[in-house]
Amino acid sequence: MSKAVDPSVSSSFDPSGSGPAHLQVTALQADYEALRALCQAGELPVLLLTAAHLSGDLDLLRPEWMPRYAFASYAPHLSAEQEAEAREVCFGALAAFRDAGGPVPGRPSYDFFQEALKWICGKDAESLHRMLDDQIVFGRDDPQTPQWNKQQLDADRDFCVAIVGAGESGLLTAYRLSQAGVPFVILEKNTQVGGTWWENTYPGCKVDINSFIYSYAFSQKVWRDYFGAQGEVLEYFKSFAQQCGLHDQVRFSHEVRSATWNASSAQWDLDIMTPQGGVQLSANVLVSGVGQLNRPSFPDIAGIEDFAGESFHSAQWDASVTLKDKRVAVIGTGASAVQFVPHVADAAAETSVFIRTVPWLLPTPLLLQPVEDSLRQLMEQLPNYMQWHRLFTFVPQAIGILDEATVDPAYPPTETAISTSNDAVRQALTAWVEAQTEDRPELRPMLIPNSPPGSKRLPRDDGRWIRTLKREDVKPITTKIDCITANGIRTQDGTEHRFDVIIYGTGFKASEFLMPMKVTGLDGRDLHEFWNGDARAYLGSTIEGFPNLFCLYGPNTNLVLHGASIIFISECAANYVLEGVRSLLQGKARSLRVKPEVYAGYNERLDEANAMRAWGFSKVSSWYKNAKGRVTQNWPFSALELWRRTRHLDVNDYEFDTE
Ligand code: NAP
Repeated sequence: MSKAVDPSVSSSFDPSGSGPAHLQVTALQADYEALRALCQAGELPVLLLTAAHLSGDLDLLRPEWMPRYAFASYAPHLSAEQEAEAREVCFGALAAFRDAGGPVPGRPSYDFFQEALKWICGKDAESLHRMLDDQIVFGRDDPQTPQWNKQQLDADRDFCVAIVGAGESGLLTAYRLSQAGVPFVILEKNTQVGGTWWENTYPGCKVDINSFIYSYAFSQKVWRDYFGAQGEVLEYFKSFAQQCGLHDQVRFSHEVRSATWNASSAQWDLDIMTPQGGVQLSANVLVSGVGQLNRPSFPDIAGIEDFAGESFHSAQWDASVTLKDKRVAVIGTGASAVQFVPHVADAAAETSVFIRTVPWLLPTPLLLQPVEDSLRQLMEQLPNYMQWHRLFTFVPQAIGILDEATVDPAYPPTETAISTSNDAVRQALTAWVEAQTEDRPELRPMLIPNSPPGSKRLPRDDGRWIRTLKREDVKPITTKIDCITANGIRTQDGTEHRFDVIIYGTGFKASEFLMPMKVTGLDGRDLHEFWNGDARAYLGSTIEGFPNLFCLYGPNTNLVLHGASIIFISECAANYVLEGVRSLLQGKARSLRVKPEVYAGYNERLDEANAMRAWGFSKVSSWYKNAKGRVTQNWPFSALELWRRTRHLDVNDYEFDTE
């Protein structure tokens, strides 16, 4: 018989009381001079949107000032005179608003928002409206707050959700459950919240998504940098957990070893390893928030155990190893290595970078930039600027380059470009590299890939990577590795390169979802045997034969440069979990399980679509694919489709057990 749910896991949350910090400026107090200065800063479209919102005057959004979308961003296109005129118009509108002394408006009307969106995203405004409405939060007016609670649906039912992992997705789901008054517990193997942001401490570690969208829409702050450093990101999630009372609901140093579906109790029975020994716990619903990129992958290179020097993986950075005066080898040139190699080069005597596959770099001028004081002041002094700024950052990232990453069979696709627009991206990225290497053209083969843009993740760069590879004390090596020896690395040309330290920037076992947990579903079905190395989940969430199990950031939920940020992906997944819990409570059901035909049909369509994207079409290696070559990571459809399909749980997709 399963152990009853521990009553101490229960949590309720009063939304009117504690809650996450969220910057909301409630009055415009700047005098004329200060206001004029504010109007000289920030992105003009955001200023115009804010001025239009505060003044209620949509005429400020003139067609000639409309932002122009280009390659996942907005490109400035106004002359200096036009820009000055527009800023002066903003000043006039804001000064009038201030003088009138009226209240700061909250969420704009449907019509206002629709017109504002037409100005930002043209023809897509109508279809994106509801999704984008979720992404802009004024005060506590968070549209994603569950509009139901357990008390109303099934007050007396003994019910608990177990969430595995206290990273950004687990915390978000817990927060939403707490808003709905659903008891939950979070089981975390580490001693702190934050998941990957707690684990990865390598020098230079930072988000590669703009921080204003790599943070919850309902908990905004002014970041120190546009792309927050690991410490600030971790602090954000720690503070969030504390402010929302979630910290107390986390059981730290609790690693779930196995989860077994108990058909008679309709619960998941969990075996958990703690420093004090094994403990058991049962829950009606199990949510996996274990992430995709947290189990380091060491390369399968002969002799790896023979190396006599020091070595470690980037995700297990060994700060006790001093790099000063050392000869250091780095294997790998993914997003992690691109961030830490410049720091290694600063510290070491010599740095050799082993490049197996050249990645495309995504030019990002703001990558290492602090948020300017002028922008900080705008966010802290001009009401609603922060909110429109986030939306304006979100929209182009959510549209992204899905079109440019889609195969055009009429093109015809090749291994270097898959459509005319993909080739245009290729040319733009190539030109950016060429401009930086006029003095060192021999470096170009190490910087210009042979694969179509979008086939692998594009590490962001602001020019630092190329500056680093140009350093005299840095040696990029493209000759393939033969083996690792006691003294270093031997390449296939027979050269033995001698090193004191080897750093593995070789990524993660991304396609091994939910490993190493043993998960046993209906009729003793073992999850990993069932998947057989080929993880699948309906909408990235539910799995055939595994009732009441939901995944966050599950199989095929990675939106490659068309999903804004992982936070958006987690919002979709968390909402789907909440919808699942709601349907169980509302329908007085013990369990739900996805119908086999729904699961199969969905995966068929998914595979067909992935085959027509750069990452599925290209033969290049990447963590988007599993060992069988199937894309197990990526969502091949639009961000809008993910949002739309996870907004409600369609009960027709599921079988419910209401015994
Ligand atoms: P990765 O993208 O998987 O890169 C691994 C690198 O190691 C690749 O260059 C790979 O070469 C190389 N490699 C693997 N096995 C090798 C072998 N046997 N011999 C030689 N080279 C080998 O890993 P990552 O850089 O850690 O990044 C993983 C993901 O984490 C990123 O794509 C990103 O989504 C995420 N990330 C995010 C951030 C952030 O700021 N948010 C920062 C870092 C990472 P091949 O390309 O030839 O396979």
